[in-house]
Amino acid sequence: MSNPDYQALENTYGLTLYPKRDAVLVRGKGALLYDEHNNEYIDCAAGIGVANVGHCHPDVVAAIQKQAGELMVVPNTLYNDKRSQLLQKLVQLSPDSIERAYLCNSGTEAVEAALKFARVSTGRTEYVTAMRGFHGRTMGAVSATFTKKYRDPFAPLVPGFSYVPLNKIDKLDAAVTEKTAAVMLELVQGEGGVNLADRAYIDAVKRICDERGALLIVDEIQTGFCRTGRFFACEHFDLQPDMITVAKAIAAGIPMGATLLGEKIKVEPGMHGTTFGGNPIASAAALATLGVMENENLASRAEEMGSYLQEKLAEKPMSQVRSVRRLGLMIGLELKVKVQPVLEELMRRRVIALPAGATVLRMLPPLVIDKSQIDRVVEQLHELLA
Ligand SMILES: *Cc1c(COP(=O)(O)O)cnc(C)c1O
Repeated sequence: MSNPDYQALENTYGLTLYPKRDAVLVRGKGALLYDEHNNEYIDCAAGIGVANVGHCHPDVVAAIQKQAGELMVVPNTLYNDKRSQLLQKLVQLSPDSIERAYLCNSGTEAVEAALKFARVSTGRTEYVTAMRGFHGRTMGAVSATFTKKYRDPFAPLVPGFSYVPLNKIDKLDAAVTEKTAAVMLELVQGEGGVNLADRAYIDAVKRICDERGALLIVDEIQTGFCRTGRFFACEHFDLQPDMITVAKAIAAGIPMGATLLGEKIKVEPGMHGTTFGGNPIASAAALATLGVMENENLASRAEEMGSYLQEKLAEKPMSQVRSVRRLGLMIGLELKVKVQPVLEELMRRRVIALPAGATVLRMLPPLVIDKSQIDRVVEQLHELLA
């Protein structure tokens, strides 16, 4: 008996929100994915920066299976063994300014909580975020997101947001006032094109926030959990933010997010909450995932494999590539051509990569990717873009 036509089912009964590619993926292991016909792909997307420990890491699989047989839900009004240990672990791994964590279910929820906590902790209502930044799809998070395509169809949005260009200190200086509750930004803009913040700019952001009593929120939803060669990208900048938002790679694919909180964050009981946040299966999966990141030294591995990939790219100059931007295993190739057709052709060559805007090819492979897999990726890129 042949399989149902899964693509037709999704196209018919799902919402057409995403540009779909021609494969039905059913299985994964490490940095490899397999479709329904058992074709093998090298994954340079990792579910958009989620599978940092690799697909179906045995430690994470075992933790989920065990927890599923023990307990699947505990309301946040009761204590739980896995949730308590995860909270402690997250704070231990975070920059020293972080003292507590709020657990939720996605990146946009972590951002939403940060925006609310910034208002109640400062008594202020305005925010400054970065042009080309991305913070999520709910009404608050989308208000913080610069791209008009994501915002304009849903107006009126949350008021009080202004947007400044990354790495321009004078523009930020002019935008932050005594009404600013928080400045929020990514240290490497993921969706916006793999754009790196510079050290002098981030130092100035921190100083300006402190001078004017605004909180600094760093969105590490994409850069966190070893992606950039450090546990958090903040470490590259010796940065001590007031809040950090995380999600994506935290639980290796089980939905989870968290808002990490410094001492200035004051929230009263009942002001905010969630049914699923800190759920025992997600907490168990996250604990196992963080354990793998530590045991396998994935932060150093990300830097090692990232620099190997960059060397290999440099050995094979490609006329269609304008420049390469990278921090750890977060890589953007600025192309001279549109990225979407390149991604489709790569897919036919069994490599899955991501866009970041119209002309940037973004790679966020699992951090367990090995050198021979990287060689195969570079070979395919070279054949396509030379
Ligand atoms: C993906 C992402 C988000 C949104 O996370 P979701 O889990 O999709 O809601 C927010 N900020 C950044 C930097 C992201 O990469």
